[in-house]
Amino acid sequence: MTTKQKQWQLWILGYYTGIIDGRWGVGSENAARALQQDYGLTDDGIFGAQTEALSMDIITKLQKALTDGSMAIDGLAGMETSTAVAAWQSAHGQAVTGIADVPTLHLILDTAADKNPTSENWWDGIKYFSRSEFKCKCGGKYCSGFPVEPEQLLVEQADQVREHFGARVYVSSGIRCEIHNANEGGVAGSRHKLGKAMDFRVEGKSASAVLAYVKTLPAIRYTYAIDGSYVHMDVE
Ligand SMILES: [Zn+2]
Ligand SMILES: [Zn+2]
Repeated sequence: MTTKQKQWQLWILGYYTGIIDGRWGVGSENAARALQQDYGLTDDGIFGAQTEALSMDIITKLQKALTDGSMAIDGLAGMETSTAVAAWQSAHGQAVTGIADVPTLHLILDTAADKNPTSENWWDGIKYFSRSEFKCKCGGKYCSGFPVEPEQLLVEQADQVREHFGARVYVSSGIRCEIHNANEGGVAGSRHKLGKAMDFRVEGKSASAVLAYVKTLPAIRYTYAIDGSYVHMDVE
């Protein structure tokens, strides 16, 4: 990646505000550092292979969310991507900057996810839960909220739990992105990262009572009490 391209990557994500001139100065370095900090990389301000891969991954997602089929999906930011961001902002009543900073980026990705018809239809058969209850709780800091989709089988089991107890179920942790999972002390192989696990409590019920029922559900792979109220359950 050329220095100019690196500056483009940082510029479109709202980290670099200088001129795209191909000269790597303090402004570029600080921008690279801010990006690295936001995504949990070593914040050395050096735009190396890891930062390059991260930026391309983010911009690929952005381009996929924005494209009407005519834009190249190559992970490389440029005038074309910026124009597409500007068009999206204009169409959604946002200030038109052509820059997808963190809040804008997440707004674009979330809007695209809500429009995405794939695997959404089974939610119609779910009685008590909405997709947003399973959203990653990093608050949009490290992901768009849905790095993966909640697993249908898991949500169906949650529905059964809710039905069985006839009491409200509060999801304390559904999907977790890589960084949020690490911050929560989750194991590397956590099924929360796959959308296949949830932590929850049932209003007015103890964890042991909930656990006793969850253990009878054949689709549940593994379950345990987290404390006196909360239970973890996951599916294959
Ligand atoms: Zn997250
Ligand atoms: Zn869990």
